[in-house]
Amino acid sequence: MSDCLFCKIAAGEIPAIIVSRDAEFVVFRDINPQAPTHVLVIPLVHVASLNEATDRELLAGLLARARDAARELGLAERGYRVVVNTNAEAGQTVFHLHAHVLGGRGMRWPPG
Ligand code: AMP
Ligand code: ZN
Repeated sequence: MSDCLFCKIAAGEIPAIIVSRDAEFVVFRDINPQAPTHVLVIPLVHVASLNEATDRELLAGLLARARDAARELGLAERGYRVVVNTNAEAGQTVFHLHAHVLGGRGMRWPPG
């Protein structure tokens, strides 16, 4: 999608600190980190939000990729959080499906 920020990051048209990429997903550092480690996992294909995601294999891949990123970033044993903000009340601001992977500090529950 031509005016989508994360499509542009996926295409390399807007710079980001890329952690890893494969044929389906890109993992990059969040520009405004909310934890010592905060990365975003996005599919290369444009999907606006979890509500619009009809491809269950893509969703499984997103979660697996978030898990793999947490492992690669050294978070697996101590723990981490995977968050998919969806629409207004959850605070979604970028309408290209993404999973936040947060770790490196203790986290409270329930989230704000
Ligand atoms: P959400 O609120 O769930 O839609 O999350 C969007 C996230 O994208 C926020 O955590 C932002 O800090 C992050 N973000 C926005 N612009 C950029 C950018 N250019 N590079 C990296 N992360 C970004
Ligand atoms: Zn997009």
